[in-house]
This record gives sequence, structure tokens and C-alpha cells, in this order.
Amino acid sequence: MLPNRSTAAGQDLIKELSDLKYAIDQSAIVAMTDQTGRINYANDKFCDISGFSLEELIGEDHRIINSGYHPKEFIRSIWTTIAKGEIWRGELRNRAKDGSIYWVDTTIVPLVDEHKKPFRYVAIRYEITERKLAEDRIRQQASLLDKAQDAIIVSDLNYQVLYWNQGAERVYGWSEEDAFGRHIAELLSSGDRRELEKAHQELEAADEWKAESRHTTRSGERIIVESRWTLVKNDAGEPDYYLIINTDITEKKHTEEHLLRAQRMESIGTLAGGIAHDLNNILSPIMMAADMMRTNPDGDTTRWVAMIRENAERGADLIKQVLTFARGMAGERITVNLKHLIKEIVSVLKETLPRSIKLEYEIEPELWTISADPTQIHQVLMNVCLNARDAMPDGGTLTIHAGNVAIDDNYARMNIDARAGSYLLLTVTDSGTGMSTDVINRIFDPFFTTKDVGKGTGLGLATTMTIVKSHDGFINVYSEPAKGTKFSIYLPSADEHAARTATGDGSRTARGNGEMILVVDDEESIREVAAATLAANGYRTVTAADGREAMDVYEENKADIAAVLTDMAMPNMDGAAMIAELRNIDPKLNIIAMSGMIHENQTVDLQKLGVEKLLPKPFTAEKLLTTLAEVLS
Ligand code: ADP
Ligand code: MG
Repeated sequence: MLPNRSTAAGQDLIKELSDLKYAIDQSAIVAMTDQTGRINYANDKFCDISGFSLEELIGEDHRIINSGYHPKEFIRSIWTTIAKGEIWRGELRNRAKDGSIYWVDTTIVPLVDEHKKPFRYVAIRYEITERKLAEDRIRQQASLLDKAQDAIIVSDLNYQVLYWNQGAERVYGWSEEDAFGRHIAELLSSGDRRELEKAHQELEAADEWKAESRHTTRSGERIIVESRWTLVKNDAGEPDYYLIINTDITEKKHTEEHLLRAQRMESIGTLAGGIAHDLNNILSPIMMAADMMRTNPDGDTTRWVAMIRENAERGADLIKQVLTFARGMAGERITVNLKHLIKEIVSVLKETLPRSIKLEYEIEPELWTISADPTQIHQVLMNVCLNARDAMPDGGTLTIHAGNVAIDDNYARMNIDARAGSYLLLTVTDSGTGMSTDVINRIFDPFFTTKDVGKGTGLGLATTMTIVKSHDGFINVYSEPAKGTKFSIYLPSADEHAARTATGDGSRTARGNGEMILVVDDEESIREVAAATLAANGYRTVTAADGREAMDVYEENKADIAAVLTDMAMPNMDGAAMIAELRNIDPKLNIIAMSGMIHENQTVDLQKLGVEKLLPKPFTAEKLLTTLAEVLS
């Protein structure tokens, strides 16, 4: 077996072997043991990594480097493999002399005698500590991802799952083992690939996609998730994989629906009283007419039959109203003409409002249509009207108005929720108790009520807000204690004509000619927007935040001021007092009053004060400019 050192071939072989040994010693950690596992060879690298000197190692049992980390069965399986003369390969965790831990990729080669019995084991190791630590870190990070409530999923570009956290297991019921390598659509949506195609398209255009999706879990349960997809790219900027994070919002959605339903039940309850009363009014004449016909069959039966028929029809109408409420929360969107809906509400209100409340309504002709769930809009209007009723225990006037409005940026800036566009504006005005600022600030909170126990649940306006927002609309409230309240509900129009009107061309707006306008309002945003609009359209402006300040500004610029544009409700000196004082100085001064709410008697008062024009707030740039031009001409 051993090369013959004296021959040339032998010399060559020895040279080759020593070169080989040199190369191996440079790269690998090498040790040899006898068949019992006693170390009889270790190279420098072995000494380095184990921290033992060669003297300490030779003759020592190989277990001197064991870390006690691997289970007994694992160690035993190594021995059974190599004792049979087979090569074992694997990763081992060893302990150095100073107690520090290192990992080695290990190959143990048994050298066997002629009976196939190992007489020596050669172990060749490569250190992999760093790789192992990195793997541990990744495992730790992955276990953090497992703590997340969300389903976190990674798939390759063919939608094959590469990673599936425990959140995903909780949400969808599939374990990581089930999920790995499977197509995402099978796991999330029972094989329905429509959503995936949508996501795919969107991700081609942008690297992110968000949606609210309906998914199916392993057990067939339907869930609603908020889904975020990200296309992750590699260092070269090429698409690499998809990261999908899904949040289960089923519960939240149901709560919202419950809120809406509970609230609708409440308004049915409120109405039920009125309906019961109504039904009695309907049934009494029917019963009386029937009695008349029975006791007096030869009498004027046509009259009684007509009465029965008429009342039965009223009854049928009433039931239709109730059904409008009772219909479920479909959340459908259809094209709705509010005219019919308002008329329906008006007829219900006429039946149920106390006599002390006068009901007025005006629907502008050519009302734009909206895309809405009619049941929900019905609910909105009913809530606001019932609140108006409750605010007028001693009677008053309830006014419903519907019209088209185009909202420009000017207007949008006066209300944070508003966005420019064409809207249908529904206003419900009452002459009731009104509200303080404190109350106004809280009315949209669920369960906020100022009503007695059993009278109010505080859900009405919260629901109203939810519905209006889900229709991309917004609400404006204006109220003054003891003077009444105005709710303005804006719903985006679904009309094509409307879209054109909203953008407008602006050419017909009347521009100023350097005239100076004094703008007075305690609300900074309105003051600024109005002044900026005027300045951009050929006027000069001066501003003041209340009546007192306005008087000072006026004194300074008396000669130049062509018109005063003023709010009515202000601290220090209100609009009315200021106007009276201005009139004393200059009876011919042009004055425009802006107001969030205009009451009948206020109009009369303002006329008495000599106010030229009223400008209801909020207003569009066009409305402001035309009003001003009218006053100045
Ligand atoms: P609820 O009617 O059950 O009290 P809402 O959410 O409908 O609940 O209204 C919340 C509160 O807002 C009412 O309790 C009331 O104080 C106030 N509010 C709503 N509308 C008006 C109104 N038109 N006039 C005066 N206060 C109102
Ligand atoms: Mg209410």
C-alpha cells in the first residue's frame, strides 16, 4: 500500500500526496481517530478552532469537542453510519476549550480493512458558524413575523408560495407545510383567479396594490381582508417576488353593519309610534264604513266603498315606507333620483310630525342623479329630520331643500372634508334649540346623545356620517344656540352634465377693477380664502377678524373701501352691530352679509339694516364674484 520511496514513481507519489495534504490543511479542519474514536491526528486548523494544543488532543477521546447540543439519537446515527463503513455528512455544533461554540460542516470518512471493518476515521470539517448565526437571525426574524396578526405571504413570480407565516395559518387555516409551493389563488380564494389577475395588472403599472378582498378559508368560511401587494425587486431592479400582507377585517366590517342595522331598528322604533297612530286613523274609517254598510245595506254604499278603498291605499303606502327601512344593508349602488326619495320622506314626515311643526320642502328642477344605496340615503335623511323634530319640542319649521352645487377649490378650502366636484346638496334646516360648539364637536361620535335615557341612542349621526362617507360625500353643520340648525349633506353626482358644470370655464365670472373690499370674518380660513379669491380677480382687499377691528380698518381706509363683505356671528362686535355703526357713517356703503344659516327673521332684520345681499356660506368663487359685481354695479 505505501509507496516505495526509493523509486522515481514513489517519489512522485509522495510529492503529490504532500501537496494534497498541504492544500487540505490550508482549507479544511482535519482530524483522524482510531476505530474507538480516540484522536490520533489533528491539523493546525483543528487546533486553532478547538483551542486545544496538539498534545492535549492526541490520545483524547473525540468527544472532547462535543457541545452536548445534539440529541443522543442523532449522535448514535452518526456512529451507526460510519461503523458500517459508510460516509457521514452533516452539520455539527462543537465546543472549543474556552467554552465558545462553533459550527462545522462535517464529513466523516471511515477507512476500512479487508473485512470492511473501519480501522480509522477521517473527519474533514469546514467552519460555518457565521452562516449558522445568520440562519438563526433569519429564523428569529421569521418568528417575529409569526407574531404578527396579519397574514404575511411571499410568493414567487408564478404565485407559488415561498413563505407563509403563522398569521396566515390563523387567518386561512392552512399550515405553512400545506401552503408551501402551492398556488396562491388556491389558498386564498378557492382557486378563483380574478383577483390575482387584477393584482397582476396593477402591479405591472405600479409596484404596489391595495384592495379590500373577499377570501375563503380552508374550512370554507368567507372572510373580508384588507390586502396589500408589493412587487419586490432584486438588486438589479428586476421583479423578484411578491410580498402580500392581508389583514382580516371581517369582524370590523360586521360591527359596522351591526351599527347601521341597530340604528335603523331604532329609527323604525321611533317611527312605529307614529305608524301605530296612523294605522288607527286608517283602520277606524274602514271599520266604520264596513259597519255602516252592514247596518244600512240600502244606503250610499258607493261612498263607503270609496272610503274603504282610499284608506286601504293609504295603509299600503304606509307599509311601503316601513319596508324601505326594513330592507337589509345591501350596500348596493344604483342611480338614484333624490326627488322621489325626498317626496317619500316628506309624506312619511307629514304623517308623523306633530302639528306644531311646519314642514316645508323645495326640490330644484333638473336635479342631478347620484350613485347610491337608496335605503341608506333614506336612513340619512330620516335621521337628520328626526333630530330636527326632536330639537323643536315647542314647534317650529323644518325645511328640506335639494339642489345641485358645483364645488370649486375655493369652497373646498372652507371645509376640510370637501373635495372639488359636482354634488347634490341636501339641506335640512330647523328653527329648534340649536347647539353649542361643544355639542357640535361631538354629534358624530357614536353614542353621543343629549337626550333622555330611552329617547336617544346617539347612533343617528354616527350612522349618517358612515353612510355619507361611504358615498364619498361630506356633511356640513351650522348651528347657533336658540336659533336652529342646518345640516348640509353633499353627495357626489353621478351625472355627466354635472361633471362639465363643475369644471366650468370661469370666463363669465365678473372681475373687479381695483376696488377695495373689506372682508370681515372671525374664521381665518374663510377670511383668507375670500380675500385670496378677490385678490386673484382684480380686487384689492383689507381684512378684519371681528366688528371692532373692522371699524378700525374701515376708519383707516374709508376713502377707498367700495364694499364690505361680513360674517354675522362674531365675537366682540357682531355683524348686526357693526353694520348699524357703518350705516351711521356712510348710509350708501355697499354691504354683503355672509352667513352659515339664514333664518326668515334674520333676512328681514338684515333688510332693515340695509344689507344689499346675502351670501350663504360656504360659497363658490363664482358666487362670491357675481354677488359682488351685482352690488357694485
Ligand atoms: P340621538 O338623536 O339618539 O341623540 P344623534 O346621533 O342623532 O343621536 O344626535 C346626537 C346629538 O346631536 C343629539 O342628542 C343632539 O344633542 C344633537 N343634535 C342632532 N341634531 C340636532 C338638531 N337638529 N338640533 C339640535 N341638536 C341636534
Ligand atoms: Mg338622532
